[in-house]
Amino acid sequence: MKKLKVFKFGGSSIRDAANIENVASILKSYLDRPLLVVVSALGKTTNALEEVVVAHAAQDGQASEHLNGIKEQHYQIMAALFPPEHEVFASVNDHFVEVEWVLEEPPHENYDYMYDQIVSVGELVSSTILAAYLNEVNIATTWLDVRDVILTDDIYREGWVQWEETVERANAKVSPLLEKGEVVLTQGFIGSTDSNETTTLGREGSDYTAAIFSFCLDAEDMTIWKDVPGVLTADPRYFDNVVKLDRLSYREAIEMTYYGAKVIHPKTIKPLQNKNIPLYVKSFIEPQGEGTFISSDVEDHYPPMVAVERNQAMVSISTRDFSFVAEHHISVLFNHIAATRMQVNMMQNTAISFIVCFNDIDDKVDRFAQNIQEDFKVLIDRDLELITVRHAQPAVLENLRKGKILLMEERTKGTVQMVVKNVQVVDWKETGPS
Ligand code: ADP
Ligand code: ASP
Ligand code: MG
Repeated sequence: MKKLKVFKFGGSSIRDAANIENVASILKSYLDRPLLVVVSALGKTTNALEEVVVAHAAQDGQASEHLNGIKEQHYQIMAALFPPEHEVFASVNDHFVEVEWVLEEPPHENYDYMYDQIVSVGELVSSTILAAYLNEVNIATTWLDVRDVILTDDIYREGWVQWEETVERANAKVSPLLEKGEVVLTQGFIGSTDSNETTTLGREGSDYTAAIFSFCLDAEDMTIWKDVPGVLTADPRYFDNVVKLDRLSYREAIEMTYYGAKVIHPKTIKPLQNKNIPLYVKSFIEPQGEGTFISSDVEDHYPPMVAVERNQAMVSISTRDFSFVAEHHISVLFNHIAATRMQVNMMQNTAISFIVCFNDIDDKVDRFAQNIQEDFKVLIDRDLELITVRHAQPAVLENLRKGKILLMEERTKGTVQMVVKNVQVVDWKETGPS
């Protein structure tokens, strides 16, 4: 038997009926081998579900309305794909009903728990729709509930995978399905605790799910299907003159994505690297294209690559009594950082201060500041950007610094990282003296 291929289709690749048809046509070229497909929620459904969570938590009376909007979008897509009496309507409805039950109860005291119970429906329904459609067009497909395979801890919204059990369950549950010769289709982004509570793996986590399966089942390779031709030197939404990288090492890929290159979730690389499983990033718009091939030992000569991570907070911490920020303080600070599961993007220290730059997610930075403010003076600067340039060249850096105030910069070999604030451009003709 040929070796398994794992595919991941993100929200953009299944955002409407035409795109779902396109996914089916891509899959048709790969049916001569075992195939496991991981899907995200349709389009921007997860963002919309987050609004349901916020509304329910605030009890502002809008939660059901938001949910109805999401349901409506799904039913419209289904109406374009299936005859009205198709059983998929009932299956999708069953998933939505579970969320309606959550909304009937008062908001759960654990916000993150409630979040996972609501937001996970996005992937449950998208995978139900896609599985039904594939069967409809004669691609024999089994829908797998990923919660029967991926076991996580009970840190909601960023569950950590319990690898041993997950590997065991993947082999016991998925291998027999693959042997039947059907496509196995499952949900990205979600998992389950050992008491069967639904968890999520962190936003954009479906790539990671595909890598987990690739690792557990020793896939031949994994492919992420995107709306871009492959990994580009920068985000084409914000930069001109970007070029596609044909080959990339795991190291380059992990460094770029950790610092904000939104094309692959950063956690995706490790499980693949650990088993030397190559990763392709390909276009679902032009599926015949070569895409980007990511594997070990590709240490090519790379052009400058830029990743921008927005929504950064720079926290300046200093001792109140002028004592040095030494090992003891740093270890206290890092214990707090670890407890809050915050991502440290950059840091610098001086005699009596320690400056650290984080992704400013939810209230984590405030919680961290609160925890340490008794012992330290804390200043927070928000709304910043972290720009990472690998294989930097002077002209590129000069261009990137235009219109920005540089707050912190660090260079290591060819990599330059800077934390910047965008300068408000004031038109003096309107505001100055006339
Ligand atoms: P999906 O719905 O598949 O998860 P996303 O919209 O989340 O897709 O991510 C795809 C987008 O990532 C692309 O359209 C592109 O704008 C952006 N992107 C950011 N950095 C890069 C990069 N270095 N190379 C390619 N695309 C990038
Ligand atoms: N649907 C989830 C999100 O938008 C997971 C993913 O797309 O990878 O974050
Ligand atoms: Mg995405």
